Amino acid sequence: MASALEIVAVPAFADNYLWLVHDADSGETAVVDPGDAAPVLVEADRRGWRITQILNTHWHPDHTGGNLAVKEATGAAIIGPAGEGGRVPGLAVALNEGDHVSIGSHQAEVWEVPGHTLGHIAYVFGEDRVAFVGDTMFAMGCGRLFEGTPEQMHGSLARLADLPDDTRLYCAHEYTLANAQFAAHAFPANQAIGERLASIVTAREAGRSTVPTTVAEERATNPFLLARDAGHFAALRAEKDSFRSA
Ligand SMILES: [Zn+2]
Repeated sequence: MASALEIVAVPAFADNYLWLVHDADSGETAVVDPGDAAPVLVEADRRGWRITQILNTHWHPDHTGGNLAVKEATGAAIIGPAGEGGRVPGLAVALNEGDHVSIGSHQAEVWEVPGHTLGHIAYVFGEDRVAFVGDTMFAMGCGRLFEGTPEQMHGSLARLADLPDDTRLYCAHEYTLANAQFAAHAFPANQAIGERLASIVTAREAGRSTVPTTVAEERATNPFLLARDAGHFAALRAEKDSFRSA
């Protein structure tokens, strides 16, 4: 039986998570969204892992800023969305909906999940029950609509929420506490949200990460998945853009 993917968070900037993904059987290691090269290279080195591929979800610099330096240090191939080809530094392998990437024997399908940016993709390792979702879905939240429409983002989130319950969603930021406070404001009668907010406050006070999340948790407590339709989603997203917790 193939060994499970080892997935390690590398914190960067104020609240980014860069993900190292290692397959012990093949010795292959991918880094997802290396906004900064140095911390990723240090962590891979410390573990004796050699980075063989760079997987980008979208073009934003806090996800791609380390691409060229990681490539220069390791020779890793830079892989990312075809739809953002001109804006992803060093892009060598351009991916579209339905394409596949592999880390050893672990295979991901590429999903186009527009909304945060127009070309944003997710890497869905179906058999592993793992998905790298970039800035599309966050724990109890979703990315801002910089390029796409509410309809696009609402559709992208619904699609991710349709994955099996136990799928772990690896997003790119630790935004969960602020997201949970907004969720409790938007859905004050929702008991699951209230309980999750309390557990997130505890986790953050103890300095613990709240990522990855799971599809089941998001379906129950993500306000943007609880939206009735795209119109309700759009209203919630606009309200969140200016929301400040007390
Ligand atoms: Zn982004």
